[in-house]
Amino acid sequence: MIDLQRLRTARGVDLTVWPPRYDRKFLPSAEEEHWLPELECADEADRDEIIFGKLKNQIRHAWERSTFYRRRWQEAGVSPDTLRSLDDLARFPVIQKSEMRIAQEANPPFGDLLCIEVEEISRIHGTSGTTGRPVVFGIGRDDWDRISNAHARIMWAAGIRPQDRIIICSFFSLYIGSWGALIGAERLGAAMFPFGAGVPGQTARAVEWALTVRPTAFYGTPSYALRFAEAAREQGVNPLDIGLRCLFLSGEPGAGIPSTKRLIEETFGGACIDMGSMAEMTPWMTNGECRHRTGMHLWQDIVYAQVCDPDTYKPVPFGAEGTPVYTHLERTSQPMIRLASNDRARWINVPCPCGRTYPRLPDGIYGRYDDVFIIRGKNIYPSAIEDTLRGIEGFGGEFQVIISRQDSMDELLIRAEYVPAGSSHDSIDALKTIMWEKIRARLGVRPILELVPQGSLPRTEFKARRVIDDRDVYRTSMGKLNNP
Ligand SMILES: [Zn+2]
Repeated sequence: MIDLQRLRTARGVDLTVWPPRYDRKFLPSAEEEHWLPELECADEADRDEIIFGKLKNQIRHAWERSTFYRRRWQEAGVSPDTLRSLDDLARFPVIQKSEMRIAQEANPPFGDLLCIEVEEISRIHGTSGTTGRPVVFGIGRDDWDRISNAHARIMWAAGIRPQDRIIICSFFSLYIGSWGALIGAERLGAAMFPFGAGVPGQTARAVEWALTVRPTAFYGTPSYALRFAEAAREQGVNPLDIGLRCLFLSGEPGAGIPSTKRLIEETFGGACIDMGSMAEMTPWMTNGECRHRTGMHLWQDIVYAQVCDPDTYKPVPFGAEGTPVYTHLERTSQPMIRLASNDRARWINVPCPCGRTYPRLPDGIYGRYDDVFIIRGKNIYPSAIEDTLRGIEGFGGEFQVIISRQDSMDELLIRAEYVPAGSSHDSIDALKTIMWEKIRARLGVRPILELVPQGSLPRTEFKARRVIDDRDVYRTSMGKLNNP
């Protein structure tokens, strides 16, 4: 049994009410590993009782206030009374992002998903995607407060402490990733330097500012962390000398791709922490690694995640691959209940050295069910190409994948950069042979490989777009992961 009285007096968390109340002044002492060990390291059955209690309240709240959920659930023959155990959640239908778009189009701007009065909204955010009608998020003041609390708690697990100084190198505006990092760090009491990104010349200036301000932590996308390192070297600065202790990254799979993670850690000399579920789910850090970096923990008592079969949306056993489906547990304004991510991940439930008992995504989120491409009958993931290339000495940092159809056969062209002088290989040809063989062995198809000098391919200040599929106009991928 989790001692709720102790949680209230020692940690400032009141779980006897819904939504829970968090004391905004509570902070663990700096040497403590956990913000809320009573929940994070709890026996799973005990924690599930807390989760189930929160879930019952969350579902009833949505049923009573949102015609969107009531209609969907009535059609599926479920109601709050259906929920007799945590397992019953899987009987509720998933919602897709497309349904939110339709609901908001019919009833702009928030649709009939909103469960509070419009006057209670304190923040308006939206999806930053460039395709399709954006989704609008109306967030109440108390929800925003709870989001900041959740992010602070998870950033604490990543090793961030009040004495840290954090540079945020991602754009603000519609990208909720930046805002989530900002409010989490503010709640945690760290010093924030919200630098942003996306203005011409801003990366070079970020390096100059970093040398002056001396941040100890960095937030952005993995692609942009590497771009930032390049900009440093262009100015004659070794990225190691910036003094970053921690880089917490989201928006793309990179921080969970082994060779990209290794590269970022070797480049900066700090821990590379993978985070992120979906913008809609904010607090999106509830998929978040701890400082031991064993894969993202699923912080189940904040947002309840289940890795599900992509066709039936029933949970798959631990060890198996599926798609994460997310459910808010303490959201009053615009709750997401069983939101389908269509991301691809494997989950496990084995101990982590940090002592947290949450299940984990040991390989992060490594793709989407709609970004895999098929070449001559083989499933190819952009993340596998990235992992292979980054593991090869002499690779110059960027690549493009171009898929075309020649004489009714699919062709895979990989254009990869090489480091002109930085390779120990005898010649470009030798490097090319090694790259070609490694890619063929990993993917099982024979690519056409083209090497170009380092710096020739476009860099991104946000999420990389590296795949061009000339067979279909609609398919460009890699940058379309929707985790923030
Ligand atoms: Zn851990």
